[in-house]
Amino acid sequence: LGDLAGTFDVQVLDECASTNSVLMDATPADDGRIHVVVVERQTAGRGRRGRQWQSWPGGSLTFSTLWRFAPGAPVPAGLSLVAGLAVVRALEILGVQGLQLKWPNDVLVHGHKLAGILVELLPGRGRTPAAVVGIGINLHLPAGTRIPDQPAVTDLGEHVATLPDRNRLLAAVLTELYALFDTYAAAGFPALRGAWQQRNAFADLPVRITGDGNEMTGICAGVDDDGALLLRTDTGLTRILTGEVSLRAA
Ligand code: ATP
Repeated sequence: LGDLAGTFDVQVLDECASTNSVLMDATPADDGRIHVVVVERQTAGRGRRGRQWQSWPGGSLTFSTLWRFAPGAPVPAGLSLVAGLAVVRALEILGVQGLQLKWPNDVLVHGHKLAGILVELLPGRGRTPAAVVGIGINLHLPAGTRIPDQPAVTDLGEHVATLPDRNRLLAAVLTELYALFDTYAAAGFPALRGAWQQRNAFADLPVRITGDGNEMTGICAGVDDDGALLLRTDTGLTRILTGEVSLRAA
């Protein structure tokens, strides 16, 4: 972790329902350290909107960290995009090629889902507001694995000659994560927008947005300074805010 070593409190668990829940239920003391929970067996991993996140003992890296930000900072909106970018940068440093980002919260390799991110905000409760950022990375999926609703899945083993040691991978992702969080807190999403767009899996491609009772199709025109998706339709540009919607190829 380089300069960051010593500022981390890493809790390693054999099993838990959800690493996000561990941090949300027992909000760690605001002691200046960065709190991380990493687990071998996650029994009730969550995605967005009640979806499940699957992981395998020995075959996944599953962890969450609690990030505190200044009260009133306009940071939460783009947070899952920043977290995705951090995962991509850490994996790029390890030599993985073909990494892409899918708005708002997925990491893909050549169109196949490699990692998922779930950001959940902890309301201030009179303290510094915080977000729990959960990250799951597929390292080696058991043969024949099928994931509901997700035909295009991949693992790191398909893209590197030797799987990275999980401790090193965790350290690499945390290092990128907190470097990008610093930038984000200081300069907002505009400072990271270009880097995100460079890896946008759907840049200039037709997409379908579903999930809030409506369906919209258009051309993916990137993201704006808040991290909202820009959809080009016959009537112009529409901003789609992160929330109850999903993006699909059209
Ligand atoms: P989508 O990723 O389909 O656009 P979403 O962003 O709402 O939808 P997430 O909340 O990011 O989905 O992740 C949950 C979904 O990811 C699950 O519904 C399942 O389809 C898929 N999934 C679950 N576990 C894994 C895994 N280990 N690898 C890849 N995909 C997974």
